[in-house]
Amino acid sequence: MINIALDGPSGAGKSTLAKALAAKLGYIYTDTGAMYRTIGLAVKRAGISPEEKEAVIGLLPSVKISLGFENGEQKIYLSGEDVGGLIRTNEISAYASKVSAIPEVRAHLLSLQRDIAAANNVIMDGRDIGTVILPHAQVKFFVTVSDKERARRRYLELIAKGENTTEQEVYEAMKARDLQDSTREIAPAIPAEDAIFLDNSGDFDAVIATALEIIERKTKN
Ligand code: C5P
Repeated sequence: MINIALDGPSGAGKSTLAKALAAKLGYIYTDTGAMYRTIGLAVKRAGISPEEKEAVIGLLPSVKISLGFENGEQKIYLSGEDVGGLIRTNEISAYASKVSAIPEVRAHLLSLQRDIAAANNVIMDGRDIGTVILPHAQVKFFVTVSDKERARRRYLELIAKGENTTEQEVYEAMKARDLQDSTREIAPAIPAEDAIFLDNSGDFDAVIATALEIIERKTKN
């Protein structure tokens, strides 16, 4: 199976890039951030603070996450309920970032992620795909974009979903999340040693063409 890891900070455009590449290549696209967000949602619904580590760990056995694919789009279910429309809010982002620093939470998702990669040609986006989840991925990208541009994109996404927020608020929440993600003890969001940096600030079609050329070169043998 061909496994492509696509890591990078939030708002770098990983999911748009991964979806487009997966469609072009006929691969499955897996969004691991959605899995952490779904655990965040379950924690919120249970009335637990994401900082109460033991309580979060206690909840995990009841957090049943499954994925589906419809028209090339990933669907994510929490105990059978489609929660895709509920997990992309600022509040759930903060929950996801906090619970993802708990080793047991990461362990809870590890086999789900590895099983998908073992059974499919996949483009998996996340933070630790190239470093921890799929260290043998044939291609590892680390996507970058300037901080201001990332915040602007995330802001536009949230506004389009009807959230009431400001660009400054999104920028600050994003920087706090970046700091938490990159300095945590477990699976910090850093590039793998053999990752290829992909600058996603410019023309989208050009970025896709560059990525496809790299994938072709790295997977042709
Ligand atoms: O990618 P997205 O912004 O949806 O991810 C939400 C949060 O989940 C991130 O801020 C990060 O803390 C966490 N995450 C992670 N490891 C991954 C994917 C996401 O820790 N592989």
